[in-house]
Amino acid sequence: MKKLLLASAAIASAAATAQSPTPDQRVSQIAGEVSAERMKATVTKLVGFGTRHTLSSQTDPKRGIGASVRWAEGEMKALGLDTLQTCDTVTKLPRIPTPTKVCNAVAIQRGTERPNDVVIITGHIDSRVSDPMDFTKDAPGANDDGSGTAAVLEAARILSKHKFPGTIVYAALSGEEQGLNGGKILADYAKAHGWNVIANLNNDIIGNSCGSDGVCNDKQVRIFSEGLRWQGGDELRAQVRSLGGENDSPSRNISRFLDALAERNPSLGIDVMQIWRNDRFGRGGDHTEFLNAGFPAVRFSVAVENYNWQHQDLRVEKGVEYGDTIDKMDFPYLARVTKLNVAALAWLASAPPPPEPTVEGAVSTDTKVKWDHVRRARFYLIYKRPTDSSQWAKPPLPSITYAEHCMKDAPPECTAGGMGPRTATLDHVRVDDWVFGVSSVSWEGFESPVASAVPGGAFKPWVKPEEKK
Ligand SMILES: [Zn+2]
Repeated sequence: MKKLLLASAAIASAAATAQSPTPDQRVSQIAGEVSAERMKATVTKLVGFGTRHTLSSQTDPKRGIGASVRWAEGEMKALGLDTLQTCDTVTKLPRIPTPTKVCNAVAIQRGTERPNDVVIITGHIDSRVSDPMDFTKDAPGANDDGSGTAAVLEAARILSKHKFPGTIVYAALSGEEQGLNGGKILADYAKAHGWNVIANLNNDIIGNSCGSDGVCNDKQVRIFSEGLRWQGGDELRAQVRSLGGENDSPSRNISRFLDALAERNPSLGIDVMQIWRNDRFGRGGDHTEFLNAGFPAVRFSVAVENYNWQHQDLRVEKGVEYGDTIDKMDFPYLARVTKLNVAALAWLASAPPPPEPTVEGAVSTDTKVKWDHVRRARFYLIYKRPTDSSQWAKPPLPSITYAEHCMKDAPPECTAGGMGPRTATLDHVRVDDWVFGVSSVSWEGFESPVASAVPGGAFKPWVKPEEKK
């Protein structure tokens, strides 16, 4: 929203020379390539598969989930990306009663410097009508989630033309409507391959701007994020009660990052409405499976949902149209939401990973912030905010000079490649009254999201402290 940190803008101007574009300019430029018309063509193609229900035909060349997943993979392959289908045979009551192959179409754009640092954009390709088990009726799924799938493919089309230090993964997931199956399959794949997932940006219902009650909003997109990290369970919760962190999961910091990115780049044309809960009230999405695996994840969704136009049989009742058809969509709006995704992916794949800060300072008038050096980070920024404040305060901190001093002349102690610990002492800052965070900044001026120095705040999957040692 409006009260935001301007830190990255300052860094950008410090890092950029007169000729080269700032990081904000660079990602805005790339995002400017998003085409509403091309996205409409993608959704039209997806609707053309009749139904994309997870239990529909896997072999029919024209209709059903199999044909649509093969098409999505083919589109990404045609861009020169490495593609694969991540599959599993799933039986999951009540919505997948018999063993069913569930496959995601996935493309991997390997990073040039840090291929193991991965940012993942997802949407779900499967669709449904009123009865979640009905796999024969036409289920166009234009907005839910042809829109998210179109965002994945559009991001691939644009970003595959550029090179990034980190890896970007594009995925059209299946099985969402039957129980987040595709999300789990890809999260498990990421875990099994040891990916360091910086963020999963999940796009589910991002292409309409008016509700059935006539309320419209085409200026904002909602970003849903969990506050207290779910992964870690009782043990983490006990630590959070003692040390804080209810509002500081890495996903919450991704949400803050997206809000700030949109704010600094008006050409993206979209404002972020941060929703501080994991998903819509009582509802779900694939990002939750990434969270379960320990990876930061947020959900993008429209500002105003139209419940007549999702999960409905196509029909007209008492003059009211029901069904998720393409004529209900707002493609210029979808393009703007996609621009934010593209800018965020380009940014996150360019920035170093966030550090893993911790703080000390109980029964002391000072606070010590510590973290280990992150490979390829040029310098770090230290943030604090009052515990009841929504955004990080603008650096530099009044009592800290580390980041400022590093920004000015990049002396050897800031730029040396050593992997040793970094420490900053904040004089006369009481640890009780603040939340602290640290970000890392690349040589080009791309700043990572801020990682909170609280239990569960690190962007890595949570592990018990005793197992860490
Ligand atoms: Zn959906």
